[in-house]
Amino acid sequence: MLRLIDIAKEDGEPELEKAFWNTYHCQQNIVTADGRLYGDYCKNRFCTLCCSIRKADIINRYLPTIQKWEDLHFITITVKSCKEHQLEAYIKSLKGTFKKIINKYKNKTNEEQGKS
Ligand SMILES: [Zn+2]
Repeated sequence: MLRLIDIAKEDGEPELEKAFWNTYHCQQNIVTADGRLYGDYCKNRFCTLCCSIRKADIINRYLPTIQKWEDLHFITITVKSCKEHQLEAYIKSLKGTFKKIINKYKNKTNEEQGKS
């Protein structure tokens, strides 16, 4: 974080520098009361502590819905970003490609099971 602060200073980015300092001091002072710990979070995207809390919150919100789904698969597809005006066509293209991938594996599974 200290190196990022230096870079923000060099690049003349005072807001970013302040955000990096906030992350540097994230949870630096912790107060205990009634058997619980309290502290100030920076809530920045690049803070590993705040990201872990955000991730836990997201898991808790989505898990009940995801647990109802059958035949779960986790995939990550990465693509190069595009310009804003290309976004709609880009998403349409991605959906088409994704459909092809799903159909390919559906067909492959059916062939393996002799259903073709
Ligand atoms: Zn934080």
